[in-house]
Amino acid sequence: MESPVTASAAVLAPPDVFTDEDCPGISPHPAVPSPGRTALRWIGQGVAPGRVVAYTCSCRMTAYELVACGGVYQIRRRTLPRRGVPPVSWTADRWRRGEALEWWRRLLAGHAR
Ligand SMILES: [Zn+2]
Repeated sequence: MESPVTASAAVLAPPDVFTDEDCPGISPHPAVPSPGRTALRWIGQGVAPGRVVAYTCSCRMTAYELVACGGVYQIRRRTLPRRGVPPVSWTADRWRRGEALEWWRRLLAGHAR
């Protein structure tokens, strides 16, 4: 007869065995950048904290957020700290909504990065 202790021990496997569980699976993952992609220029400061209107999955080393501040949009990039790359940076360009959504689509598709 199986004891309840054995059953619960099977459930309590080490969490790092399940690597896919780090991915919430809700937000999109940006595609691998294409060779002819547009290089966005990234700077260390945004217009203002703003409001995040779209974001990519947090399971990747680099996550992107589309940020609205008033009628102006910028893309914010968050990366794990690594040499030569600030943990938070912003696109040097700011766009109106329609243009910003277009750049956001290009970024997700790997056509801009
Ligand atoms: Zn993910």
